Amino acid sequence: MNFCVRCGKETEHTVDGLCTECFLNGRKLTSLPHHVDVKICTNCGEIGFGETWVAKDIQGAIEDAAKGSLIVIKEAKMVSTETASVEQEPYTHLVVVDSVLDINGHMAEDSSSTLVRLKNTVCKRCSRQLGNYYEAILQIRAGSKDIPQRVMLEALRRVENLVGTQSLSNRHAFITKAEEVQGGIDIYLSSISLGKSAAKDISDTYCAETKEAAKLVGVTEEGQEMYRVTYLVRLPDFHVGDVIQFEGRYFKLTRISSSGAKVIDIMNFRERAVKRSDVPAFKVYTRSADLKEALVVSRAGEEVQVLNPSNYSTVDMSVPADAEIGDTVRAVEIDDVLYYVP
Ligand SMILES: [Zn+2]
Ligand SMILES: [Zn+2]
Repeated sequence: MNFCVRCGKETEHTVDGLCTECFLNGRKLTSLPHHVDVKICTNCGEIGFGETWVAKDIQGAIEDAAKGSLIVIKEAKMVSTETASVEQEPYTHLVVVDSVLDINGHMAEDSSSTLVRLKNTVCKRCSRQLGNYYEAILQIRAGSKDIPQRVMLEALRRVENLVGTQSLSNRHAFITKAEEVQGGIDIYLSSISLGKSAAKDISDTYCAETKEAAKLVGVTEEGQEMYRVTYLVRLPDFHVGDVIQFEGRYFKLTRISSSGAKVIDIMNFRERAVKRSDVPAFKVYTRSADLKEALVVSRAGEEVQVLNPSNYSTVDMSVPADAEIGDTVRAVEIDDVLYYVP
């Protein structure tokens, strides 16, 4: 058994030689600084506290900033807090933090207050974005002149989606600008790593060739060299759906991926995988948009009779056994013979 050095009471636990009552007598258990500053980006509306910026509501940010600045004496354990705030004048809120604390199993309460001041500013990301900052340029170029505009826009959408996804976990990922140029699109990106992953994505999706070139653009205040990297991605001429020539045969191109391509032989409907290194040898025979549409007259098993759209003669074509045949079929003409395109 111990004795309180102040009141002499017998007690099991002492804090600094005092019984809990004497220890607590008139003592502040929590404290807050006179004021706490919270930054608000006037451009994106996100809230900054120290170096971290997050999207949250202002009321929550004001109370969290006060709670985050609360100092509790080392003898006490925080049990719970409640905050209340009132706007004193524009941009200045008085926040009261009521705490319940545990001192040697004895519950005590304390209350502290601070002024949370809202400061309008522009976050680093927005100042970069507004200042047209970029570290990488992704140049997407058409492999040939008649590459459809649609493919270019589709590639741009892919990059926008990729940047959108990355920006969820990295708030410094953004597209500075995208502009149409002769033969393609230039996309300016906020970081080199973003440029690299966008170039890889486009290259994998379209089996496109990529070249990169780095340029020294200056030195940071810390003496680090700053580079800008240009990724040139040249889209191939062929696209999924086209009929292509390869190794003397005709195929419909059904899939492209980072590992290569999948094609279906027009003559026997067999599927074949082509290695990535062999894909550049593909030659477009007929683009998917230019395939013929033939009216179906009748079907018997693996044969259909169609009206040749070039001369309206009826011709027979082989079709795969499991093909679903509608009113029309897509066809390609090779050496004056019409073939079904699966
Ligand atoms: Zn005492
Ligand atoms: Zn901002």
